Amino acid sequence: MFLVGLVYTSQTTDQFKTASIEKILDTARRENARNDISGVLYFNRKYFLQCLEGSRSAVNETYHRILKDPRHTNVALLDYNEISAREFDSWTMGFLPELREISPLVKKFSGSANFDPYKMSGASCMQLLTSLQAASIH
Ligand code: FAD
Repeated sequence: MFLVGLVYTSQTTDQFKTASIEKILDTARRENARNDISGVLYFNRKYFLQCLEGSRSAVNETYHRILKDPRHTNVALLDYNEISAREFDSWTMGFLPELREISPLVKKFSGSANFDPYKMSGASCMQLLTSLQAASIH
């Protein structure tokens, strides 16, 4: 059973309240632990940027459930690859809140310092997530 990594972005809807990020994370962590999925979710009140890693069937099934969720919209698949190892293996769903450090990182991986994941490549989004993870740990 080989590993895949999937990165998507989406935008919040009126059904989403800031408080419900905790509900999303609770569900994600419970379900992902059950399905051996790891990953990370970046959220900045406007956009979600999420990476899911795990077996192809588990990642595909989870992504299809996420697609139907009315708390977000305009879901865009940015990256989908077979991977040899997990980047976020210790996180059933790590949470990266808005950080002051993001502007220079966004500028490093896209054409401007304004975060707009719809204008970024999947590879750049993935590198941004790993860089944000490193910034949040240190
Ligand atoms: P049920 O719990 O049976 O819910 C039925 C429907 O209602 C689903 O469409 C569900 O999405 C929706 N729903 C559930 N709670 C609410 C609510 N409070 N308000 C409005 N609608 C609601 N799930 C994972 O398993 N792993 C993840 O990593 C993950 N990440 C997510 C990231 C984001 C940005 C979002 C918005 C959701 C995420 N989810 C994740 C949750 C996922 O969308 C499903 O809600 C969850 O997997 C349960 O699926 P279900 O079919 O059992 O839905």
